[in-house]
Amino acid sequence: MISVDQATAITLSHLFSPPVLKVPLRDAVNHVLATPVFADRDFPPFDRVTMDGVAIAYKAWEEGRRTFVIAGVQGAGASQMDLPGSEVCIEVMTGAVLPRGADTVIRYEDLTMNNGMATVADVIVDKYQNVHHRGSDAAAGSALLSPGQRISPAEVALMASVGITSVDVRAWPRVAVLSSGDELVAVEEQPGPFQIRRSNTEALVSALRSMGIEAEAGHLPDDADIIKREIGRTAAECDVMILSGGVSKGKYDYIPDALEAAGIRKLFHQVSQRPGKPFWFGVGSRGPVAFALPGNPVSTFMCFYRYVRPWLLHSLGTEVKSQAAVLAEDFKFAPALTYFLQVRVSGDGGVMKAWPAAGGGSGDFANLASVDGFLELPSDREVFRAGEVFPFLAFRP
Ligand code: AMP
Ligand code: MG
Repeated sequence: MISVDQATAITLSHLFSPPVLKVPLRDAVNHVLATPVFADRDFPPFDRVTMDGVAIAYKAWEEGRRTFVIAGVQGAGASQMDLPGSEVCIEVMTGAVLPRGADTVIRYEDLTMNNGMATVADVIVDKYQNVHHRGSDAAAGSALLSPGQRISPAEVALMASVGITSVDVRAWPRVAVLSSGDELVAVEEQPGPFQIRRSNTEALVSALRSMGIEAEAGHLPDDADIIKREIGRTAAECDVMILSGGVSKGKYDYIPDALEAAGIRKLFHQVSQRPGKPFWFGVGSRGPVAFALPGNPVSTFMCFYRYVRPWLLHSLGTEVKSQAAVLAEDFKFAPALTYFLQVRVSGDGGVMKAWPAAGGGSGDFANLASVDGFLELPSDREVFRAGEVFPFLAFRP
């Protein structure tokens, strides 16, 4: 049986290379940028006034002048005016170009305005104050965004400002989610006394959707022939298969054989972890990659966040942020398995503290609603002390 780290390394050495796709700017959010974005002109493109007030030549203030004749008004978007002399000022609005000959802006709050004159209050005035200098944020032609950047509304704003209407992004992989098991009915169905609803499918589809990925979902009965046929068909149509259930040692756990029959070569089966030990992973010679996750809801959930999500982010060429948290209470776990402890976290003076809330095992998914993620406790220890730091796997944004 392989370790969590080995399993991670194997999945990450079989990444998918998504092609580049053009999407309209407003559809780009959540996608991963595929090509750099350059400044089409200086940022800002002119000496920009940042406060409503008056523009003066600093030298006049320095020489003791406090009252200025108002020679005009420079509005945002209007072409640049001239400051006719150092005894005068020009009223300027936020976003306007600084008048030629002026270098300093005094805000209205520090002025009294009377009979066409502006008088500066008893305040300190600094040269260039309230002026955002041309090119001070970025020079024309410089790279504003690099490939691999996950596009948030901030990146959308930046691209809008340089005139990009369609964005080169990494195409999402085509993902199929397949649940399995005769005991499972659709969410809208009334389960029989020994049946349950397929919650894993909804969890996986939603976890993918929270990343921006839309998945196809299907269900397989515990029937070897149907499973083979359906897996074969699905494998031909997707880049990634995420299966849940049917990978343990039960009589009806047909998934691994069916995957191999569909040409998906097993790279590992079973990882020394709890939950999620029966996890199976394989790749087809021409795709797809298959993550066959154990069906217990907490196992499926944990394996998605520990293996599938980072694999997707690496495949898309974007950063995978890792987190750590401080264990808040002593905790014991004896088996020689990596234990993914369910924890509630709280910020405490800038340090994230993790409070164990182990729940009732891998079938107890009600407990997930009261935790924030999993603390990854290494397999070679039995006792974990309050104050020790461990990797933290968050599932809440
Ligand atoms: P399996 O991995 O197929 O042996 O399933 C392990 C446990 O998880 C069983 O109790 C299943 O009923 C349950 N299970 C499997 N798939 C799902 C699913 N899609 N939604 C909810 N529970 C599931
Ligand atoms: Mg099953």
